[in-house]
Amino acid sequence: MFVYVLNCHGKPLMPCQPHKARLLLKQGKANIVRMEPFTIQLRHGSSGYKQEISLGIDAGSRHIGVAATTEQTVLFEAEAKPRTDIQQLLATRQQFRRARRSRKTRYRPSRFRNRKKPDGWLAPSVQHRLDAHLKLIKMVHKLLPVNQTTIEVAQFDIQKIQHPEIEGIHYQQGPQLGFWNVREYVLWRDSHRCQWCQGTSQDAVLNVHHIESRKTGGDRPENLITLCETCHDLIHRRHQEHKITRKSNGFRDATQMGIIGGRSMSRHVLSFPTSI
Ligand SMILES: [Zn+2]
Repeated sequence: MFVYVLNCHGKPLMPCQPHKARLLLKQGKANIVRMEPFTIQLRHGSSGYKQEISLGIDAGSRHIGVAATTEQTVLFEAEAKPRTDIQQLLATRQQFRRARRSRKTRYRPSRFRNRKKPDGWLAPSVQHRLDAHLKLIKMVHKLLPVNQTTIEVAQFDIQKIQHPEIEGIHYQQGPQLGFWNVREYVLWRDSHRCQWCQGTSQDAVLNVHHIESRKTGGDRPENLITLCETCHDLIHRRHQEHKITRKSNGFRDATQMGIIGGRSMSRHVLSFPTSI
């Protein structure tokens, strides 16, 4: 365990042992500037002695790991969990606003058509994850004289994971190529048969059902399933939606890390010596 030390101008020095910090505070040579993590600031000049410190970031969409080390010792370690509720909250807000507009009140034009997204815009949930990484990195840079920052970002080739033999032009020709819309594709994928009763209800009318609510699950084929109208109706009336589960959780995390990783991270962090 270390106490982090700042010089009299507020720039980070090498951390010290708690008993050293206690002595400095007792002699009035330092002030406490931060309790968590415990940081002191020297009141007078110092030699400014520093060692090589490298900061490693293990980027992730659910866990972010950071560790600052010298050749021998780990000086700082932390793990952060970014929020995961942003998409849900914004979807709820959107629903409320939509309801408010269509209620019996004076005419309120919708306000989204005249808004242009600025360059480099990221979805709020993705932006938050990026910000969480940068916040952690900046915090460590304030505590320790870091020389080198290394960020490990995994890049996923999602199409390759799904189809290992994929090559060349096939990257541009997804599974839905040639289908009129997603619904047509889902019906074909499920062989135009109800996936609940496998056709025993004899109902010729087929619906395409959202497994996870459209609000958060979206309209991707993984979230859709073919049901005959009888079963669809029954499932909703008896509240048995939870019995149909999504097969794959999608590649949401992988996609988000792909967005964060490449351009966004390097654009922001390069003010420090960094390798990604
Ligand atoms: Zn059925």
